[in-house]
Amino acid sequence: MSSRILLLGGTTEALRLARRMNPDAIYSLAGLGRVPDDLPCQVRVGGFGGAEGLAGYIREQGIELLLDLTHPYAAQISANAARAAELSGIACWALRRPGWQAGEGDDWREVDDWAGLVKALNDFQRPLFTLGREPLEHLHEIPLHQHWTVRCLTAQQAVPRAEIIGARGPFALDEERALFARLGTDVLISKNGGSASTEPKLQVARELGVPVVLLRRPELPAVEREFAQLEDLWGALQRRLV
Ligand code: NAP
Repeated sequence: MSSRILLLGGTTEALRLARRMNPDAIYSLAGLGRVPDDLPCQVRVGGFGGAEGLAGYIREQGIELLLDLTHPYAAQISANAARAAELSGIACWALRRPGWQAGEGDDWREVDDWAGLVKALNDFQRPLFTLGREPLEHLHEIPLHQHWTVRCLTAQQAVPRAEIIGARGPFALDEERALFARLGTDVLISKNGGSASTEPKLQVARELGVPVVLLRRPELPAVEREFAQLEDLWGALQRRLV
């Protein structure tokens, strides 16, 4: 049996899977990051126009299996994927990467949103933000006793009391150690991404006794099959395709 596949991506695992896809599979990206031009499958970029738009695209393209390998914090597209699969009567399989777990020596504090985060940071002076672009919208609200470092995909000019670093993972442990040392980081802010490629910062925080403020994971919809590991999803895909 063969299956025409639509793979929703934007993560390292999704790109890894896209590299193994057939020419009739479609790899879909929102268009915020780099668009690969060396894949064996087709690539499309940009939103579909909500769940209905996605369901329309699925029908139009004769898609038979939807794979959701988007980031655990990309809750909108995952909700759309589950709904669109339901509307079109096709299966949706998802990679639901497990979150990181605090271990010995960790001081992790979970918050629900930006307001909770600001409150949690009040006692610190040198926060290092590693949760994307959201802090950039708040650069005019930096408390007088703080200097921020924001690490996101693209660098920007520094503003008073903030440095904006552009970088994309994977991040090496030694580089993370050097960054914390250079910045004098006294608190780390992160999503609970669960990816090995961004995990070294947590080890450095543990080594230095630096607290970590984590943005709580959003709820994601249940879909027909969920996998914690990419290789398990790949195995199931191989079995479906024979
Ligand atoms: P989101 O809030 O869940 O989605 C916003 C909208 O972007 C969706 O409604 C959809 O537009 C479009 N979209 C998202 N992913 C898409 C995809 N793979 N293909 C086509 N359209 C897509 O997502 P987000 O948090 O902004 O993340 C955007 C992308 O970046 C995702 O693909 C995600 O995997 C990747 N990413 C996100 C994070 C993160 O922390 N959120 C981190 C790393 C990578 P329409 O409704 O118009 O279809």
